[in-house]
Order: sequence, then structure tokens, then C-alpha cells
Amino acid sequence: MLPLVYHECYSDLVLPERHRYPIGKYRALYQYLLQVGIPDDWIDCHATPATQAQLALVHQPEYIKALCQGALDDKAMRRIGFPWSEFLIKRSLQSVGGTIRTMQLALQHGIALHLSGGYHHAFAGEGAGFCLFNDLAVAAAVALQQGADKVLIFDCDVHQGDGTALLFGGEPRVVTASLHGEKNFPARKQHSDWDISLPTQCEDAAYLEAVHSSFDYLLRLHQPDLVLYDAGVDIHKDDDLGLLHISTQGVYQRDHFVLKRCREQNIPVAAVIGGGYQRDINKLAAVHSQLFQAACAVYEPAQVLNWPC
Ligand SMILES: [Zn+2]
Repeated sequence: MLPLVYHECYSDLVLPERHRYPIGKYRALYQYLLQVGIPDDWIDCHATPATQAQLALVHQPEYIKALCQGALDDKAMRRIGFPWSEFLIKRSLQSVGGTIRTMQLALQHGIALHLSGGYHHAFAGEGAGFCLFNDLAVAAAVALQQGADKVLIFDCDVHQGDGTALLFGGEPRVVTASLHGEKNFPARKQHSDWDISLPTQCEDAAYLEAVHSSFDYLLRLHQPDLVLYDAGVDIHKDDDLGLLHISTQGVYQRDHFVLKRCREQNIPVAAVIGGGYQRDINKLAAVHSQLFQAACAVYEPAQVLNWPC
């Protein structure tokens, strides 16, 4: 059983023509997984939208209220990068709820994957870079509330998890780690507990070495009882916003390594798909699918699926 959390609203947001964000990728990924033969009972559509109380564990109440009511000023909305709409709020709350549910399913089953999530640029009182609410931070805070002692957020999106880093700067029970492109957004980096800045055009071997050594070190040092893993694929060589040069096979090897280590050490892992900005939605879905292919290999090796490569 490999729980996959999904909601049909993720891709239903209507954006202006030529908007930078590949909003269709969530549905494309879902359909890709159905095509390879993912069993129906792995799909979990039972997440409920994040509540105000859950959001308020990491976000300022005034920010939550203003954003939900459409009362943020234009500058603040430009920083987020989406035009405000009621549906934007609905899908964002559903996405945060989805990551919370993924975390809870991971605690039950050892592994769960979210076909959304990774909105790591959202701070306590402002959003940025297509991120309204920080789902990883909210899920970590809910996990603490439910009794977790130590949560590791291992963020491999090409952009630094600056919001997450700042939100947990004073919280020793949440360890923030970010492996990101040194020249990628955000220009002004925050201090995670563990930051690795990767050079532009970094290739598979150097990248995987950084992932392996960082993850092993962090597991040994902190012995977390939950890992939240941001498996962003904007590290890919064909990504429109990333500056690294990682192959599709490199993405698979990264995800396989992280999940295998969690399984070997019996640490529950909740993974989110994170960033990925290729304009060709089908190619992008294929790169995001590497996480799911790796999870099947590690957790459900007997399940026969028709992966195209
Ligand atoms: Zn990113």
C-alpha cells in the first residue's frame, strides 16, 4: 500500500494565458500514474482543506485573513505571482490539507506521497514565488502538536526553502535542510539548519554525492521520527527556471536513495512533488513521476506497473 494524496481541484485554477506556472501538471501527473496502472485503492482523496487554526500554527492571523478575503495589496500579490481569486484560496487550502493528510498517512503506513505541495517560500506574514501558505511548515507543526519529537524537512527543490528556514529558526524540534542552486531564486537566502548551495550547471554525480552525504549525516545526527521530503524536479536539465543540469535518471536516483534510507531506518516519510516548470506538461509529469516510480521500487517492489522507462 502506497498512499497517494490527490485532489482534482489542484489543476482547476484558471490562470491568464502565458502565465509562467504549469498549473496543469497535477492532473497530468495523476493521469500518468493511472496509465501506468497504479491501483485505485492507493489514491487517497480524503484530505480536507487546512483549517485557520492549522495555518495559524505558522502564519500570522492577519495575513491568513487578508489573503483569504482578497485584501492583500497588489504588491503582496505580485510577490506571490498569482492573481487573487476565491478558487486560488480554495486550491491552496486544499493543497495544505493534502500535505497534512500525507504526513498523517506516512505515520500510519511508513510512506505517503502528495501529488502537490512544496510551497516553501511562504513566510509567517507574506507569500512569495507561487507560494501562499507553507504546507511543509504547517504539516511539521501539526506533527509536533500530535506528539512528534523531531521532524526533518529535507528540501531538494532547486530553490532554497527560505520560508521554511525562517519559520523554524527558533524551533529545535524541526530541522530544516535545503539543497539548492546558489544562483536560483530567492536572491536573498535565509539560514536553514543545513544549507548546501550547488553551482550552476551542477551534474548528476556531484549532485547525488551532496544528497547522499547530507541525508546520511542529518539522519545520523538528528534521528528524526518523521521526514518531510520536498522532491522538487526543477533541478532537471530541461527545467525552465532551474539552473542545474540533472538528468531524469539522476532525479530517480535521488528519490530512490532518500526513500530507501527512510525504509531501512524505519522512519516515516511524507513526500511532496515540489517545483517543476517545464512548459511541456507531459514531459514534466514524466519527470515528477520518478518519485512515484522510486517509491514503488522501494516500498512495493512486487507491484507490476507499466513504467515507460
Ligand atoms: Zn522550486
